[in-house]
Amino acid sequence: MSDKLPQRIDPFRAAEQGRELRGRVPIGQMPRLLAATVSAADDGIEVGFRFVRDEAQRPFVELDCRAILTLRCERCLGRVDFTLELRQRLALVGASPGLDEMDEDTLSVDEDGLFLRDLLEDEILLGLPLIPRHTALTECDQENIAWLARSEFDETPTPKRAANPFDVLRTLKD
Ligand SMILES: [Zn+2]
Repeated sequence: MSDKLPQRIDPFRAAEQGRELRGRVPIGQMPRLLAATVSAADDGIEVGFRFVRDEAQRPFVELDCRAILTLRCERCLGRVDFTLELRQRLALVGASPGLDEMDEDTLSVDEDGLFLRDLLEDEILLGLPLIPRHTALTECDQENIAWLARSEFDETPTPKRAANPFDVLRTLKD
């Protein structure tokens, strides 16, 4: 099977034909994802798209992908590997102006067709953790944490925690 995915596709026709596409998309071709990850070897993300229709002849796209992405830990700024597993089934509907209240399992497609790479990138970004970090504190880069704590202390010579907590209560009462 080819590693080349078409850039875009008519998903309604593909669903009629029951098409299945597999390929690899380099992270370098997905700028928003690239910005959210730490540069690493880019083997590309393997992805599968299956276009199907259900019993009621409604068209769907099923997307599956699995990848290990390197993210930046927000606690120690070190690298943290994240295993991404996506399985998504989205109903395909034609774009129309009245179609504002769509649920997250619906994908609206205009006459330009469906851009496979954009869809993949959108779905991956939704699947990333909001705050990436090592699961356990012990996995973090301890030297970095110590350094970060020190530089924070240097910037604030009078730390807030030295303030009298009763002062806060007083302001709340007023
Ligand atoms: Zn960490």
